[in-house]
Order: sequence, then C-alpha cells, then structure tokens
Amino acid sequence: MISPSGLVDFFLDPRMPQYLVCAKLKQRRRKKLARADIPHDTEVLVAITFDIEYDFGSSARDATASAAPPFLQELPALAKELGAVFTLFIQGDLAEKFSHYLYGLQDKHELGLHGYAHELWGRAKWFLPHHPVPLHTRRELIKRSLKCFLNNNLTAPTSFRAPDLVADMDTLRLLEEHSFSVDSSAPSYYGVPPMPTKPLGATSRLLSIPLTASPIPRFQMRYLLPFTSYEVFNMFQLATSDDNHLLSYVKEVLAFQMGIGVRPHLVFLTHPWEFKEWPGRKRLGYCSSSNYELLKRKFSLLEEKYQLRYVSMKELAQLVSVE
Ligand SMILES: [Zn+2]
Repeated sequence: MISPSGLVDFFLDPRMPQYLVCAKLKQRRRKKLARADIPHDTEVLVAITFDIEYDFGSSARDATASAAPPFLQELPALAKELGAVFTLFIQGDLAEKFSHYLYGLQDKHELGLHGYAHELWGRAKWFLPHHPVPLHTRRELIKRSLKCFLNNNLTAPTSFRAPDLVADMDTLRLLEEHSFSVDSSAPSYYGVPPMPTKPLGATSRLLSIPLTASPIPRFQMRYLLPFTSYEVFNMFQLATSDDNHLLSYVKEVLAFQMGIGVRPHLVFLTHPWEFKEWPGRKRLGYCSSSNYELLKRKFSLLEEKYQLRYVSMKELAQLVSVE
C-alpha cells in the first residue's frame, strides 16, 4: 500500500504524463545535439563507479552481498585491462566485511560511501518500499560508517552516493559537516542534466556530480498514457542496447556539455550483482559473468572515438569544478 507521502511523490514525479509538455520542450534539443560536431580525440573524463551493496540493492530480499567478494577479487584485473581507476561507493555496514579486499584496492582506486545499509536518505518514493530515515539517525549512520572505514585502516570516504539516488538538502548539509566534497546522489532518472553543480551554494565545498543521464527525454506508452524516461549510463544500458545506440547516446551527452561550457565527462554506474547470473530471475536476465568482457568492449569502442581519461570521482570534481 502506497503511503500518503509516496502518493505525493508519485504526482510530483516529472516522468508522469501530467508533465509531458515540459518533457516535450526538452526533446526539441535532440536534433541540434545530434548535428553537433565533436572533434575526434576530444578528451572525455570518465568515472567508472561501482555501488558495493547487498545483492539487488533496494530490491534485496535479505541482507546478503554474495556477489561482492568474487567481484572485488576480479577488479584489479579489470582495472589493468582497461587502464582505468575506479570509484567504489560502499555501504558502511559492508566496509568491515570486505575490508581485506578494499584495503588492497584503496591505493589505486577511490573508496566512497553508499549509505549504511541501503536506506533512504531523503523523502519517501512511490517506487521504493523504504521509509525515510530521521535526520538524527542519518547523522548516526554517517558516523558509524566512517568509524567502520577508519577501524579497518581504510581511508575515510569524501565522495557519497545515496542509495537509489535519494538525498535531500539535510543529507547534503550532513555530508558537508562530515568533510565530504563530492555527492553523486542527484536523481539522474528524473532528467538531471549531466553537469556539476554546487547544491549548497557557491561558498560550499560540496560539488554534486550526477551519474550521467541523457539530457533528452524518451517517451513510452504504458496503460495508454505517455510516460517519460531519461536514459541512465549504466550496465543495464550497455547490456541491452547496441553499439550505435551507445555512440549516439554518448555524443548527445558530450554535445550538451560542450554546448554549455562544461568539460566533457561521463559517470558510469554498475553493481557487483550485475556480473553474475541469477537463474530464475527474469528481470535480471542481463546480469552475467560475461559483462566484464562487455564492459571492456564498450569502453574500447568509445576509446576509438574519443580520448578517454579515466578518473576517480574526487579527481573528476577537481577537473570539472564550478566556481
Ligand atoms: Zn545501491
């Protein structure tokens, strides 16, 4: 049963049919972006990010993270083959459990924070079963998470991504209070433009760098009504679309960024449980151990077109920083 606040959220969701006119206005940019000329060898900053969490994140049936250990073991080889650095957003309650792997990774890669136990860091969402966590509890969870890192000789994280990309202003202020400098929690699926912002104002050190989403909406008929969606740069997209689609998608994002004077960059998201088969779970049919190869192949494809420079979220923040 959806709660009253969930119901309010449903009506405010910008992907719903009542906001179709606004979405259609944004779509007018598509042709212009498709025509843009992006010079070959344009430098594109790329942050490949992994949310290290329970199997299936918010759809977890129980608090197990069985996909994470084999994945963390595989990461150094993947990084080497791609010639990339990664950012791992880790649930606070898993930092101790996987400290052995994380300790070995932290010299080359960035360790960020992905909530404590995949809870809600903002308002109720109609599509999530979770209840919002009170501010004093969130403060407690940040402290507990930081302690888990420090007690296990892991560097305190300075980048944060809220589970399900749900974070409110209180959460952002809390992050700043605890010396975080990057937040990647903006709800990209609502069509947040792929550009950095200062959500707490120009004097704040907290920079928001969203997970990349297309600035152009797409439309789908469901229940005879038009719904809007904004394609997010994640493993599901890589696994379910062809190469031409990826190239035109990336071009659209880069053309948008260059058009507004933002340094071209991409933030990609995937999870350990997407690198393993889950027989009997139809919705997760794209999850596969062959996704390691797929990921390498898709980024090699982009490398043929652009000059990719792999960076951590912390580095990305320095390079795209807004004044
Ligand atoms: Zn998550």
